[in-house]
Amino acid sequence: MLVQQTITEFRGQFRGTVFVPGDAGYEDARKVYNAMIDRKPALIAQCNDAADVIAAVRMAKANTLRVSIRGGGHNAAGLGVCDDGLVIDLSPIRYVRVEPSSRTVRVGAGCRWSDVDHATHAFGLAVPSGIISSTGVAGLTLGGGMGHLTRKYGLTIDSLLAVDMVLADGSFVVASMEQNEDLFWAVRGGGGNFGVVTSFLFEAHPVHTVCAGPMLWNLEDAGVVMKWYREFITQAPEEMNGFFAMMTVPPGPPFPEELRLRKMCAIVWCYQGSTEEANAILRSIRTYRPPAFEHVGSMPFPMLQGMFDGIYPTGLHWYWKADFFNELSDGAIAKHLEHASRLPTWHSTMHLYPMNGKVHRVSESETAFSYRDAVWSEVIVGVDSDPANREKIIQWARAYYDALHPFGAGGAYVNFMMEEGEDRVRATYRGHYARLAAIKAKYDPENFFRVNQNVRPAALGDDDLHVAPH
Ligand SMILES: Cc1cc2nc3c(=O)[nH]c(=O)nc-3n(C[C@H](O)[C@H](O)[C@H](O)COP(=O)(O)OP(=O)(O)OC[C@H]3O[C@@H](n4cnc5c(N)ncnc54)[C@H](O)[C@@H]3O)c2cc1C
Repeated sequence: MLVQQTITEFRGQFRGTVFVPGDAGYEDARKVYNAMIDRKPALIAQCNDAADVIAAVRMAKANTLRVSIRGGGHNAAGLGVCDDGLVIDLSPIRYVRVEPSSRTVRVGAGCRWSDVDHATHAFGLAVPSGIISSTGVAGLTLGGGMGHLTRKYGLTIDSLLAVDMVLADGSFVVASMEQNEDLFWAVRGGGGNFGVVTSFLFEAHPVHTVCAGPMLWNLEDAGVVMKWYREFITQAPEEMNGFFAMMTVPPGPPFPEELRLRKMCAIVWCYQGSTEEANAILRSIRTYRPPAFEHVGSMPFPMLQGMFDGIYPTGLHWYWKADFFNELSDGAIAKHLEHASRLPTWHSTMHLYPMNGKVHRVSESETAFSYRDAVWSEVIVGVDSDPANREKIIQWARAYYDALHPFGAGGAYVNFMMEEGEDRVRATYRGHYARLAAIKAKYDPENFFRVNQNVRPAALGDDDLHVAPH
């Protein structure tokens, strides 16, 4: 329980906004993207700058408060917010500075990807991110980051050059290949375990207009299309990205009325090049199994990035399950067909993101992301606007996951997981867990930052946690 004097003193050192329960704005400030999450922090500190973050960390430490770190607030497990503790909310730190001559971008830790896409597009550049532009830069990057540019440019962390961070003792550091190299290795996949990132420095890539959009097929064709896709996407030019989806057609334009609310499968393409080249590459599927509907065409990259934002606004109820896969076997495809036919609500979906190309060319030892050999990242998401459907979407996602998990590689992408316990986190970091735990022990020995997919600090003498230097 915080005493009034502590809060008053903290407000005095702080330039941003502080909310405690009962304040006007507290209720809005504690809400996150997933409406299933309903946590009541003791204090929310919306930080204006690194100095505010330092003050917040020191205050939490002095008062032994639990701390969560919030970037864009999109984490499905709600890890940006905590009960009874302090939320270090970076949302006011929202700036993007593009340096076109070096093709680098400095991004404040409160940015959404739409901020970055907007700023970089003016220079014909982009940073690889995800598929929904309202997602936070911070959480997505620290977990790895996969989306429309993954096959060509790799994970988001493969374009990360440096971070500014506030550590658990309140000190400020830069982590990069030149400074605090171990910390830089850890934050590239290790999530929010090591400190509060206040800014990111990215390399940007020449991306401007893309030929992109979804192709849809009836569910009866899904098996054939999936088998075609598993061969195609592992051999296609890396400029061509396409993620596979089991979905229900949204009830509005551009979808034709006769298809609306029908369960279908889809591939969402993104080709970095001309429409003519894209058409030549996609001719094989258009002739082999013509889609029932398609909305593929030339568009500015930010338009693709925001294409699904309207379908998935803040405030829906979400439940996720995920796995990595090395192959998409006939047996796995049969299970996909079975569970896709039971999509419980029209927002619910299953996505398979391809992870080959550049992701595989970066050595596994280079970053903390430990599944570079995986070919697919699967996420099964039960989503609905009605809280009454909570159990329905959870049960569907779990049953789908249980059926596919035996075909999987063992772990899952941390950013697609709910709070699933230490075994799941260990499975996800597998051979890298020991090194992460050792780095955690160096930078956060008391596990001050533990509201995350937590890596516990290696205890001195923990035999299983001794690591060979890389
Ligand atoms: C609709 C939707 C679509 C998505 N699509 C994709 C996708 O295409 N590709 C993909 O890779 N992921 C995707 N994700 C997953 C996304 O990467 C994670 O949910 C991620 O955690 C969101 O980051 P955030 O900053 O918005 O989250 P928050 O909830 O704000 O934070 C999540 C966690 O990240 C850490 N964190 C956040 N900010 C900081 C910081 N400044 N310093 C240190 N740690 C921090 C903390 O551990 C925190 O608990 C999607 C999520 C949603 C909801």
